[in-house]
Amino acid sequence: IFRVRLALIEREEQAAGVVVSLRDITDIKQLEQMRKDFVSNVSHELKTPLTSIKGYVETLMESELESGTYNSFLKVINDEAERLEHLINDILDLSKIESSDSLLKENVDMVEVVNGIIPVVEPKAQRKNIILNLDVPAKLPIIKGNKDQLSRLMINLVDNAIKYTPSGGKVEVRSYSEDNNIVIEVEDNGIGIPQEDISRIFERFYRVNKARSRKLGGTGLGLSIVKHIVEQHQGIIEVESELEKGTKFIVRL
Ligand code: ADP
Repeated sequence: IFRVRLALIEREEQAAGVVVSLRDITDIKQLEQMRKDFVSNVSHELKTPLTSIKGYVETLMESELESGTYNSFLKVINDEAERLEHLINDILDLSKIESSDSLLKENVDMVEVVNGIIPVVEPKAQRKNIILNLDVPAKLPIIKGNKDQLSRLMINLVDNAIKYTPSGGKVEVRSYSEDNNIVIEVEDNGIGIPQEDISRIFERFYRVNKARSRKLGGTGLGLSIVKHIVEQHQGIIEVESELEKGTKFIVRL
């Protein structure tokens, strides 16, 4: 996309030539479009639970309901309010990560980070009867980074692995150092990701199956946050996945 400017050059009150300037504004336009898409996505995502909450509250106010129905309506309202809370937290986190260039200051021990997420993820694995295996060495090279963000990265990946793996499945977290990098792998034997969706899963609000993600409490922002954190740490993230077989996320820091 080019912005074109034309200027007429006059000499002794006569047209003597034209200057044409072209400026490539593709990046600017794309950024603008991304921002617009983001705002419209956010509005839509916020509106859906709100509309549902309003609907249920109106029914509760207008009708005499027996206590079973009454309580089930309250549960829906509570679930939708929680969804809103998750969504707002994720949006705030994403914007904080995107705008901060003040990180990468702390010395971070990834052994501590990986072990530190166990209390957060273990109960979720247990609830689904999923075996959570950790294979982390006693020592890893110290890296420069942001500990909270790296914990968040790990939690998001392991949360997803648990979410998208049926009961009785297995999630493995490995960490090791290789060629001056720290490698972290999160592997599950869950539902997998269709090949055609793999390139899009890091986009904001992209879900392979929107209804399923919603039901599982997803916001569609988890992997987008992961990707930003990896990039902030000058790392790379790769995905290997096979439908019905499982998924492996590999992060190199
Ligand atoms: P969500 O909140 O929907 O989980 P994410 O950004 O974390 O959003 O992930 C985007 C999509 O990628 C998910 O909706 C899901 O379809 C897919 N996905 C992520 N992790 C996995 C995984 N371990 N196994 C299968 N699908 C996954």
